[in-house]
Amino acid sequence: MLPLFSPLGEQEVHLTESSRRYVSRDVTARFDAPAFDNSAMDGYAVRANDVASATAASPVRLPVEGESRAGGPIPEPLGPGAACRIFTGAPMPRGADAVVMQEDTDRDGDDVAIREASRAGKHVRGQGSDVSSGAVLLQVGDRIWPGEIGMLVSQNIERVHVFRRPKVAILSTGDELRSLGEDLGPGMIINSNVYVLSEMIRALGAIPVALPASPDTLPEIEGALRKALEADVVITTGGVSVGTYDFVHEAFENVGIEPGFWKVRMKPGKPLSFAQYDGKPVIGVPGNPISAMVAFEVLIAPCLRTMLGDPRPHPQPVLARLRDSYRRRPGRIEIARAVATREGDEIVVALHQLQGSGSLPSFVGVNALVVLPADKAELEAGERVETILWGPGLSGRSSFFDEMS
Ligand code: AMP
Ligand code: MG
Repeated sequence: MLPLFSPLGEQEVHLTESSRRYVSRDVTARFDAPAFDNSAMDGYAVRANDVASATAASPVRLPVEGESRAGGPIPEPLGPGAACRIFTGAPMPRGADAVVMQEDTDRDGDDVAIREASRAGKHVRGQGSDVSSGAVLLQVGDRIWPGEIGMLVSQNIERVHVFRRPKVAILSTGDELRSLGEDLGPGMIINSNVYVLSEMIRALGAIPVALPASPDTLPEIEGALRKALEADVVITTGGVSVGTYDFVHEAFENVGIEPGFWKVRMKPGKPLSFAQYDGKPVIGVPGNPISAMVAFEVLIAPCLRTMLGDPRPHPQPVLARLRDSYRRRPGRIEIARAVATREGDEIVVALHQLQGSGSLPSFVGVNALVVLPADKAELEAGERVETILWGPGLSGRSSFFDEMS
């Protein structure tokens, strides 16, 4: 279903609104960076030739002419046989081609004794050495993180073109659903899917549109679907199975939503339904909260990432070791919830005790989804398994960074 998704178009935003968006046009450098030759050290700007013979035993003495500091006036050109006091980030005086660091000098009144030879370019950040004017800084599909923002800001670039963020309507179906905070009558449950999916959609960078839940009647589901189709993508939850009150497929048909495929060989999440209305994706996920979450993460999230402009939308599993053996009925790919920890050189995954598709506690604390192959019935402790690191990511009580802090 991924090929059916594509970005929706672009918009221009201020950098302060660009965080985590995907750029829709290449961004090029406006000017050289650094924009001028400047010092990488506190010390003395010199002509390297003048200090070529300097050693600790026989230093070279030079008169100090002027000073250059970051943000200060542009220094006078440096005459031969002289040094200029200079600080990190300050412009190099014309004529100087090297900086001797302060630690290799001794100041003596108006002179400085240089104890270390230098060479042209030493401790100088040359104009354009980081970026030359016109160079491509970001390519279409690159995502904006703090580092990218820093680079664009340093280029005095205020606005960027990014892909539009799709609006994703969430339509929950089920007579039993009540909203958060409402009184629960007998047999009723709180609509958790809409909160979970909203959060998952938001985490990707798309815009969730939470619609009121629809009761299990054809006219009401149809009416709600028509409203939902104002969004760029529609996700329905519940009612896509084969029960008597599963009306979602029929409602799709009545509204003119064309069926694509139904059912995937995956556990949980089997009765997933994919359809389209005028090219607009409409995806039905099962009502079981775990099925809905897993189907979203594994199947829908890559599609939404593609719409957001991500050229690499697929999760990239890592290989991890199973902590305990696991017996299962083969036939479908199984996505198991797990807690992953780093142990020495390995990532170890402990499968959650609760793997039932309706059990919400089975997602608490989960930071890994383990992909168990369809044909395997028995997995041994220590076996390597494909693992999608997820949610909060790996964490631990200690790491080698502790020694630094
Ligand atoms: P369904 O897919 O409609 O057959 O629902 C399967 C199970 O998921 C049933 O136990 C429903 O009560 C439950 N369920 C359906 N929709 C939701 C929802 N929005 N939030 C939480 N649980 C739900
Ligand atoms: Mg239902």
